[in-house]
Amino acid sequence: MVVTASALSEAFLQQFQTERQPDCFRAPGRVNLIGEHTDYNQGLVLPIALEMACYVAVAPAPHGNLRVYSSNLKQTREWPAARLVSALPERDWGDYVAGTAQQLARAGYEIAPGDLYIRSEVPEGAGLSSSASLEVATALALLGERSIDKLELAKLCRRAESQFVGMPCGIMDQYASVFGQEGAAIQIDCRNLEYRAVKLPADVRIIAVNSRVKHELGSSAYRERVAECNEAVAAIRKVNGAVESLRDVSLDCFKQVQDYVPPTPRKRARHIITENARVAEFSAAAAACDLSEMGRLFLASHWSMQHDYQISCEELDFLVETAAAIEGVEGARMTGGGFGGCTVNLVRPFALDGFRRKITSAYEGRFQITPLFYECTPARGAGRLY
Ligand code: ADP
Ligand code: MG
Repeated sequence: MVVTASALSEAFLQQFQTERQPDCFRAPGRVNLIGEHTDYNQGLVLPIALEMACYVAVAPAPHGNLRVYSSNLKQTREWPAARLVSALPERDWGDYVAGTAQQLARAGYEIAPGDLYIRSEVPEGAGLSSSASLEVATALALLGERSIDKLELAKLCRRAESQFVGMPCGIMDQYASVFGQEGAAIQIDCRNLEYRAVKLPADVRIIAVNSRVKHELGSSAYRERVAECNEAVAAIRKVNGAVESLRDVSLDCFKQVQDYVPPTPRKRARHIITENARVAEFSAAAAACDLSEMGRLFLASHWSMQHDYQISCEELDFLVETAAAIEGVEGARMTGGGFGGCTVNLVRPFALDGFRRKITSAYEGRFQITPLFYECTPARGAGRLY
């Protein structure tokens, strides 16, 4: 699906009958190449912003409310604009919008009454960050002409999700949507919140495969993992008070202190600590155009999520194993929060057709589900469309 600016404003004008051309903003989804669940542990991540994006058109309205229509869901939500600052979550998609508006209001950006029209190309709940792209596009639409520091924007949208929606997420998704770069992945250091561009070798394609399953376990397990990582930090702190997060623990240090950590948090910590190392190694391998090393790190990352962090599922494991056995596939791993959603695959251009065909027939044969494929080309971060 390609959302053109004119299609968007036409739909917007029909839906809301505004008199003037609305302003329109775009914020991309992202696929994380490597560095999973490391962001809320102050660690390293390596996402790319996608061409698939969420678009939000905005126009002032006389009705005193912030009214929002999702053309994906064909539903409208509204709140009195003046009361958004104290709105409460309703466990509904509107929370992403209300939460973003509330964070803006609390940061001193007044929310004027208006109509928002949302149209997103990012599949929902597939681990490609439809939620952060919705938050960031909404924030830009509500800000309009007012400028905001990019990091402030990412932080504010993250607070919308962690404090209002109630998902204790790290900053990767919002950061990637804001800072994404055309033609490169970005390695984000979630401790100092700086990033650097990482170019990928020309002879490999990034393909996300949507398993089209989402197991209910997802959000409760996410919270559980956050808590288990905190437990690991607390145990390590008893022997080394300088440690504030798992980012401060090197692999050597971990080997010395791991016996002080209870078994489950120990496994979680091992994933985070080895995963941080894999992000740095992957970026180095990408710079050296070492595809087989990049692929090895993908598979090691998946193994770690499957066995140590325990956030994979049968469908994802099957997709990874099937992909890894195909000639011309350098590596595969699950991506995103886990328990469903997408895998990300490093595929040589010559192998693309066979990859699609073999994955589709194997996955259909095993689960009676037709997977979806997205070729992921690094795209620019969020901004005004027109
Ligand atoms: P992900 O971010 O991986 O896609 P999440 O569970 O974090 O998955 O966020 C998905 C949720 O975001 C959806 O269930 C819905 O509430 C909200 N959302 C995303 N895109 C839209 C949209 N276009 N319209 C309305 N709500 C959306
Ligand atoms: Mg999300």
